[in-house]
This record gives sequence, C-alpha cells and structure tokens, in this order.
Amino acid sequence: MHIDKLRDSFPDDNVCRQFLESVIWAGCRLCPGCRYDKSYAIRGKTARAGLY
Ligand SMILES: [Zn+2]
Repeated sequence: MHIDKLRDSFPDDNVCRQFLESVIWAGCRLCPGCRYDKSYAIRGKTARAGLY
C-alpha cells in the first residue's frame, strides 16, 4: 500500500483509533479485566477520546 493512500484512509488520530477499535472489539466492546460488555464513552473537558 502506498503511504499516500494510507494517509488518506486515516486523516487523523480519531479515525485511526476508531478503525483499531473496530478491529479489536468487532462491534462488542469488552472489559479486558472481567469481560463485562456494558460501557459508554467517557466525555468531558478533561477526558481524552477513546476512554470507556
Ligand atoms: Zn471489568
């Protein structure tokens, strides 16, 4: 794959993170510790993207 094509597919960190999440979790987000499947995105001024 050409680097320019890769760059077009992942224009920013958020898009890249969402892609990796879809690969890792495949639509079902599980806690790595206890396998619990109910979680929500943590939002707020001090929360970075990708926290659940
Ligand atoms: Zn857990």
